[in-house]
Amino acid sequence: NLIDPNAPDFGPVMRRIAHKHVSLGIKSYEYPIVGHHLMWAIGDVLGEAVTPEIAAAWDEVYWLFGCQLIAEEAKLYALGGTDPERPWRKYRVVERLDESPEIFSLILAPVEGKTPEHHTGQYVAIAVDLPSGERQPRQYTISSGPRGDSLRVTIKRVRGVGGAPDGQVSNWLGDNAKPGAVLDVSQPCGDLILDESDGPLVLVSAGIGITPIAAIVEDLSRRQPDRQVRIFHADTSHRNHALYAHLRRQVLAMGDAKAQNWYEEDAESAPTLHPALPGYMDLSDIQIPSDATVFMCGPLPFMRATRRALLDKGISAERIHYEVFGPDLWAQNPDSAEDAG
Ligand SMILES: Cc1cc2nc3c(=O)[nH]c(=O)nc-3n(C[C@H](O)[C@H](O)[C@H](O)COP(=O)(O)OP(=O)(O)OC[C@H]3O[C@@H](n4cnc5c(N)ncnc54)[C@H](O)[C@@H]3O)c2cc1C
Repeated sequence: NLIDPNAPDFGPVMRRIAHKHVSLGIKSYEYPIVGHHLMWAIGDVLGEAVTPEIAAAWDEVYWLFGCQLIAEEAKLYALGGTDPERPWRKYRVVERLDESPEIFSLILAPVEGKTPEHHTGQYVAIAVDLPSGERQPRQYTISSGPRGDSLRVTIKRVRGVGGAPDGQVSNWLGDNAKPGAVLDVSQPCGDLILDESDGPLVLVSAGIGITPIAAIVEDLSRRQPDRQVRIFHADTSHRNHALYAHLRRQVLAMGDAKAQNWYEEDAESAPTLHPALPGYMDLSDIQIPSDATVFMCGPLPFMRATRRALLDKGISAERIHYEVFGPDLWAQNPDSAEDAG
């Protein structure tokens, strides 16, 4: 944007980062510290190539970006009623539900005061103190619609592959977040939120990417039960399909909601409302309203394939919204980002 006025608008990327920062409790006075060490690292790696002019240019870009983030984050903290010096609020686990062998839901209620309002589709960060003494925060989507007295998160235990260690926070929560446990939780954040229109909606997810979709369906079933909604979900098996029973109840209660699932195993015997299809999601024979707004969430390769299928069906790119459960490598250019795995 600085050198090419026709480059894609950087605003949405900046706002997405600001939401992540606020969920992590980043403070304005941390920017000079990061800037100082970033400039040192640039000098260390590039050596004499970093002339005083180049160093000054990098410094200027850092602060152009940093000042925008600081302002946006101040706004988000103020809107959330959060003092950035105390970004974590205590929540008690009031209920725990095992959704599948590796996925569990936690119903969380603030220890003091009211549950903050949130937009459907947002997430919170949960910070835990690990046995190593490290403190680690991770983001988890609020998988319920606005309920007033509590919020639900649905978490998959991340297993290490090929000798890598198991995920730290998901497994710590899996082992320790039992009813009565008290957790440090951030204010709700995130810019993938349910629109306020009444046009057709297409919700696409894979695996644990069901969480924002479940929140949207719960909200719609209460506020817009007659909105046209098509729900497409892919999973390894029906047994691993988290939140299925809730979604089924809500779909049945809605006037024009239909769901189609794909399972890699046991599709034929899955007791779904509409017969499940075997294998990976394939939208080629599925009818999708061309004026639909799409929300999707799942692994990046899944979302890239789905986005291509939707574009082929005539859905415009601006109507396709997505959440990534990791660094958003898609933010600037969904066609070129490398897979995050
Ligand atoms: C906006 C957002 C919303 C999210 N919503 C949800 C949600 O609703 N539900 C949900 O379950 N998750 C969600 N996530 C993902 C979640 O935040 C965590 O990333 C996830 O739980 C893994 O965290 P962890 O601490 O368990 O794993 P980590 O400890 O962070 O490990 C991550 C991966 O790195 C690998 N790894 C670790 N160390 C090494 C090493 N030395 N060498 C090689 N590999 C290594 C691990 O095996 C693992 O695969 C969301 C993420 C974002 C950004």
